[in-house]
Amino acid sequence: MSQLPFRAQVASALGRTAATLSRMTGRGDGSVIGGRVGLVLEPDLLRKLAQDRKLVLVSATNGKTTTTRLITSALLELGEVATNAFGANMPAGHVSALSQAKRAPYGVLEVDEKYLPDVLDTTGASVLCLMNLSRDQMDRAAEIWLLAQKWRRAVAGKPVHVVANCDDPLVTWAASTAGQVIWVAAGQRWKEDSWCCPECGGPLDRKDSDWACRECTFRRPQPHWVLDHDVAIDPRGQRWPLDIQLPGQANRANAVMALAVVEIFGVPVQRALPKLAEVRSVAGRYTTVERDGRHARLLLAKNPAGWLEAFDVTDPALPIILAVNAQGPDGRDTSWLWDVDYRILRGRPVFVTGERKLDLALRLDTAGVPFQLAGDFTEALAAQPPGRVDVIANYTAFQHIRTEFGRAE
Ligand SMILES: [Zn+2]
Repeated sequence: MSQLPFRAQVASALGRTAATLSRMTGRGDGSVIGGRVGLVLEPDLLRKLAQDRKLVLVSATNGKTTTTRLITSALLELGEVATNAFGANMPAGHVSALSQAKRAPYGVLEVDEKYLPDVLDTTGASVLCLMNLSRDQMDRAAEIWLLAQKWRRAVAGKPVHVVANCDDPLVTWAASTAGQVIWVAAGQRWKEDSWCCPECGGPLDRKDSDWACRECTFRRPQPHWVLDHDVAIDPRGQRWPLDIQLPGQANRANAVMALAVVEIFGVPVQRALPKLAEVRSVAGRYTTVERDGRHARLLLAKNPAGWLEAFDVTDPALPIILAVNAQGPDGRDTSWLWDVDYRILRGRPVFVTGERKLDLALRLDTAGVPFQLAGDFTEALAAQPPGRVDVIANYTAFQHIRTEFGRAE
């Protein structure tokens, strides 16, 4: 890698110092503060740090932290990789990630959906991985069509390889202006945000996994890669069983996206798959925590599509604890709870906790799902018989549980 200009070197070094101080004073893991300091001193720092590296940007409503981890794990086969492993997915987090691995020839950056156009522009990344777009908390990014339109403009005419999920019509629409697209049939569990054609507003007809607009020419492209239950089918038609440790169909979708991305860099499936299989948990997700013989598996769900994915992973034979907060990062408005079909939980012992447990309780009651209220997570866990229990929590509720039980990776 060529040398950074002097001013950028100073900004980058001071940013790292700030990150270290932040960690030492217990103000966080330092991945954002360091980047912020660096950007104040040198606004062009991200562009300079990105120069001469091969970068992948990963964006989606759900699964971007996990997919970033999977791609990173496979690219490590080629050399050092800079990455924002802890989900600090805005430019300050990107600066911090690249500063901390200055000589890494590769970078895999998770990018907040709204920042993707800017970050693509600034970094000149060579590969984009676009997975899904669905409604997030009601008071954030309600207009996902506008977001898709911004992505569409951002990739138009750019010399970037796009790897996109063609089972998501909005993502397909966003990606289809790019010159080079590898289409991956990675599935779409949540369809409530894609009944209409993003091109003309007409109805989308669906038959099995295929979809097409009834009123214009917009339709699902022919996929290069296909996820067939637990098998990835590569562009040559070869079938690869996805023997990975991360649970659920959503993670198999993340894995097939990762395989498509790393093949662009020259990592073949047979080399990539064992690396994907090494990933056991991502920033605490899917980790099991234990107290007094209760083994609780932690699942994060931040929006309606995320809850469906989490239900898919849980074991119907086990009790389940649901924890919902409504702090800033969660969205203050909990009306999104009404978009989730909770009836799947009928017949399981359900425990409800978190700051907004009463909102969730009302929702469950309306869906005819019996439940018990618990004062906090510790109390909910203590109410379980010894053995395994599933936990689904939204963002700050999840972080609270992780802090309480140690930041296990
Ligand atoms: Zn149409």
